[in-house]
Amino acid sequence: MRGLRLGKEGGGKTKRVVSGMRPTGRLHIGHYFGALQNWVRLQNHPEYDCFYFIADWHALTSDYADTSAVAQNTIEIVTDYLAAGLDPQKSVLFQQSQVPEHAELHLLLSMVTPLGWLERVPTYKEALENVKDKDLHNYGFLGYPCLQTADIVIYSEEGIALFVPVGEDQVSHVELSREIVRRFNGFYEVRLNAAMLLDSKNAEIAEAVRNKYVVDPNSAYSFGSPISSEEIPIAESHIRSVIHQVGLENFLETENKLAVFIVVNRVLEEPQVMLTQTPRIPGLDGRKMSKSYGNAIALSESDDDIRKKTKVMVTDPARKRRTDPGNPDVCPVYDWHKLFSSQETLDWAAQGCRTAGIGCIECKAKMADHLIQWIAPVRERRIEYEKHPARVLEIIDAGSKKARTIAQQTMGRVREAVFGWEKKRKEISGDTAANAD
Ligand code: SF4
Repeated sequence: MRGLRLGKEGGGKTKRVVSGMRPTGRLHIGHYFGALQNWVRLQNHPEYDCFYFIADWHALTSDYADTSAVAQNTIEIVTDYLAAGLDPQKSVLFQQSQVPEHAELHLLLSMVTPLGWLERVPTYKEALENVKDKDLHNYGFLGYPCLQTADIVIYSEEGIALFVPVGEDQVSHVELSREIVRRFNGFYEVRLNAAMLLDSKNAEIAEAVRNKYVVDPNSAYSFGSPISSEEIPIAESHIRSVIHQVGLENFLETENKLAVFIVVNRVLEEPQVMLTQTPRIPGLDGRKMSKSYGNAIALSESDDDIRKKTKVMVTDPARKRRTDPGNPDVCPVYDWHKLFSSQETLDWAAQGCRTAGIGCIECKAKMADHLIQWIAPVRERRIEYEKHPARVLEIIDAGSKKARTIAQQTMGRVREAVFGWEKKRKEISGDTAANAD
């Protein structure tokens, strides 16, 4: 049996979701609507095993010079996960650095990933140009996509499809992960069945393999001898390079006679995109919501702060006076109404805005009422966990242990595929036995 069948044994789950966040501080409502809401929905879906982690190594790619906040931020994020409704009985909640196999797989993936693929990542180039307060000219930042790929595919398990929930803007990251995995698998998952090829019954095909993949791919005539055991690695290497170009399935289709001699040992699953539609949730100032812009409402925000902050929220910029009719469709306050308010309030706001029947101050106050109502149970759960940080630690430790069990099984397969030590040890112990005889 491969892997700890968390899902399969527990109820026939055939899909696995892996996602994480960097520990940069307390989470805000943008994180909730951008990811957590969907994570909670998935953990309650009968088909999905869910793995959600805190990417503390990723925090170091930019914050390596000052790590003083990483540990506390990790606790804060898990507390926010739990407050938002993630349930450690349903989801595996874990910390990346407690599963060192992520780092080992990252190393091996980094060996096969061409430098150009990493240098061309648009977010890498953008960050180098725009981030001025941190030095990003380090290997870790460049290699970020390799670690990100390892974070996901370390949870590969035969028969379980791997998904990464992402928005439109992150699809290319998953595509790059797929490319890296395909390249890795291309090197290590395909082998020729040497015993079958060396069997005299298969001399004809063994000769054809030799002609095409050892001697001369364009050769039309036979050289009259089947492949030798020394030539098999040469043929394997050529076959793999063809597979790199055309893909395994296409190769097996065109080389159908050879298919029975090919052993495919699936090592890592290619992750798939799970496109997630998220509602628009601009920040208080209308820009993208971000803690660093100071325009967010944290999941732990007090009622007073919610009222203070929303009072100065930007509105339809064209509505300058109370008597000007406004347009709710371009107003961030109305975007927030859509998330927190009842249909009745939504109608009241839209109608009152368009006819100048209400002022922005009362519109914002009503939205704040609904937001406070919505956030109250989340905050209550948070306060409970804040009182018991040791409980939060236990949850992280237990989740990390579960995650690690699967990661170790994957690394067992990966190491064998790359180095073949198990095979080598068997060969040696076989020889020793033979010598002893
Ligand atoms: S009335 Fe409400 S929806 Fe209209 S501009 Fe003011 S805050 Fe925005």
